Amino acid sequence: MSQLHPALQPVYAEVLHRNQGELEFHQAVHEVLESLSPVVEKRPEYVEASIIERICEPERQIIFRVPWVDDQGTVRINRGFRVEFNSALGPYKGGLRFHPSVYLGIVKFLGFEQIFKNALTGMPIGGGKGGSDFDPKGRSEGEIMRFCQSFMTELYRHLGEYTDVPAGDTGVGGREIGYLFGQYKRITNRYESGVLTGKGITWGGSRARTEATGYGTVFFVDEMLRARGSSFDGKRVVVSGSGNVAIYAVQKVHQLGGTVVAVSDSGGYVVDEAGIDLDLLREVKEVRRERVSEYAELRGNGARHIAGGSIWDVPCDVALPCATQNELPEEAARTLVANGVQVVAEGANMPTTPGAVALLRQAGVLFAPGKAANAGGVATSALEMQQNASRDRWTFEHTEERLADIMAGIHLQCVTTADEYGVPGDYVAGANISGFCQVADAMLAMGVI
Ligand code: NDP
Repeated sequence: MSQLHPALQPVYAEVLHRNQGELEFHQAVHEVLESLSPVVEKRPEYVEASIIERICEPERQIIFRVPWVDDQGTVRINRGFRVEFNSALGPYKGGLRFHPSVYLGIVKFLGFEQIFKNALTGMPIGGGKGGSDFDPKGRSEGEIMRFCQSFMTELYRHLGEYTDVPAGDTGVGGREIGYLFGQYKRITNRYESGVLTGKGITWGGSRARTEATGYGTVFFVDEMLRARGSSFDGKRVVVSGSGNVAIYAVQKVHQLGGTVVAVSDSGGYVVDEAGIDLDLLREVKEVRRERVSEYAELRGNGARHIAGGSIWDVPCDVALPCATQNELPEEAARTLVANGVQVVAEGANMPTTPGAVALLRQAGVLFAPGKAANAGGVATSALEMQQNASRDRWTFEHTEERLADIMAGIHLQCVTTADEYGVPGDYVAGANISGFCQVADAMLAMGVI
């Protein structure tokens, strides 16, 4: 990790001291602080008002017990979290993750990133994140429903369309949002559509929200390529993961003329030189809720499944990590560079380790951080809130057009901010500085709160 500006070193030391053992949170904070040296020089008022220290401390952290009964009648206990990180720009906004790896450090890293991502969208939303160490894999419909109902029975008191508006993330899709919304409605006796996003289309959801994160990531890369006189046409693309973000990234790459030749899950990866068959992938993952190994078996055109191993061994022009944090380490980055990768863009949150990011940038690979590249999901969540507030429903085409405009706007902000702060072409610095300054200005205006 590189050295921080002297004014930022004590801030980081305090973060380490206060949040011991929360490695992912440390990593996310360090990455933002690394970008802020030119800001400290240019805007001393932020330092004087301790804005950076305040941004690193969540406004509120909620931890709660989630008891539920499994199909055998055994009582199970999980832990629930909601970190309401920053509300300078609007109500806390950010997804819920259900995965056994979830603990406070993961929720805080995600919530911290969300503050700046949400600012970049230009929508009036603050940053938050939540979830549970509940593992939905292998659980029945009834178990998932009972878990979601118990989770919401505690969480509801902290939510509200002007307070905190969760959405989905890993392990929380349309089904879970349905159970969560149903329980919120039942407990509060209010049909408060704007309290959760990612809802079904017939009950307040936005068209194109399901597709938004994957589509948005690809729109962002398209902007990067277009700025250099290139396009997706004829490009070989590798997408890690095979969940919500990955599936719709695959779809948009194919619509723009590229070919996705590999996808993965935590058990391994599939290489399909003819191009991933999206209908089959969706059938396997969304309908059957099966592994990608089954895709290779059903495809039967020479597509092969490699158990374990690294999907980044597959040569490509564009790599889109869309699975999970720290899934693209330094060795993988070295292999990608050796195989001639031109662009790496993060569909997932913090999938590339700091060493890998440094290596890619040294090699001249275009690199888009998740804060910018995967902001399309939360931006479309904000569009869902807008439709809910005005009791309106937009067409798919209109919503997708708004998404494309927002992604183009984020790209432009990253480029112009990086230029303004003397780091041209650095999308990481551009995204961090632009997001940070918007939140910092609002906090300065509101005084010490
Ligand atoms: P899903 O749960 O829908 O999918 C996650 C996918 O990643 C699954 O295919 C999962 O496989 C795979 N995966 C998990 N861990 C690994 C691993 N170690 N190696 C390889 N594959 C792995 O989640 P989403 O698609 O919603 O989210 C993916 C990422 O995108 C997360 O980082 C999330 O925070 C981020 N994100 C999501 C947004 C959204 O709108 N959904 C918005 C912005 C960011 P398996 O089934 O085997 O676990």
